Amino acid sequence: MSIQIALDGPSATGKSTVAKNLSKRLNYIYIDTGAMYRAIGLFYIKNNIDYDIEENVLPHLDSLNVSLKYENGVQRIFLNDEDITDSIRTEEVSRAASVVSQYLLVREKLVSLQQEFAGRNNVIMDGRDIGTVVLPNATLKIYLTASVEERTRRRLKDYQEKGIEMDFLDVKKELEERDYRDTHRENSPLKQADDAILLDTTELSVIEVENKIVELLNKKVGNIDEKI
Ligand code: C5P
Repeated sequence: MSIQIALDGPSATGKSTVAKNLSKRLNYIYIDTGAMYRAIGLFYIKNNIDYDIEENVLPHLDSLNVSLKYENGVQRIFLNDEDITDSIRTEEVSRAASVVSQYLLVREKLVSLQQEFAGRNNVIMDGRDIGTVVLPNATLKIYLTASVEERTRRRLKDYQEKGIEMDFLDVKKELEERDYRDTHRENSPLKQADDAILLDTTELSVIEVENKIVELLNKKVGNIDEKI
């Protein structure tokens, strides 16, 4: 039987870093569902379409083809056959993703793709609705949180590593706005699944979070085989 780990939580709680590392440790496939919403958001930005209006978004959806490929275990994301992996990590795309992800038809399209990608593989999938909607029967469900100040520091560090200087309060405000939209939307709002385990990562290092998840997985499925 395949093993599915669902990792949910607000932005910048470390989900993707932890998921990426664990996918290597466990030799599971990592599926970054946020990247898929970002891909859709990027399309509307590039084509100068006002995505804040749902009626503008829906007519294009059927023509958008989002796919994932793996190079040396690293996920690359394609929009209509163009590799857009390096264009989706901007504040502008973060906002667009969080707006278009409110629309039911966008969610339906991506959720069915995500379920298809998961297939019968051992996967670790991160997002906002993985434990509640995408993989309701996941083997292990984790909900990561951290204080908004700590999350802002982490996001600023990501930007600094890319040579981009950002203002602390601007980044914090953007995170809070995104949290608000993600938790208050009508369709699949971000929330902890009833059977998910809450991990507050404010005071934890990445490796501590990883080890905790491996420990919880071991408790669920017995001794798992680690690759490194
Ligand atoms: O995780 P990431 O920050 O890349 O996600 C970008 C946005 O996509 C989130 O703010 C959220 O609005 C949306 N999202 C979602 N459901 C998911 C993953 C992401 O609504 N499963």
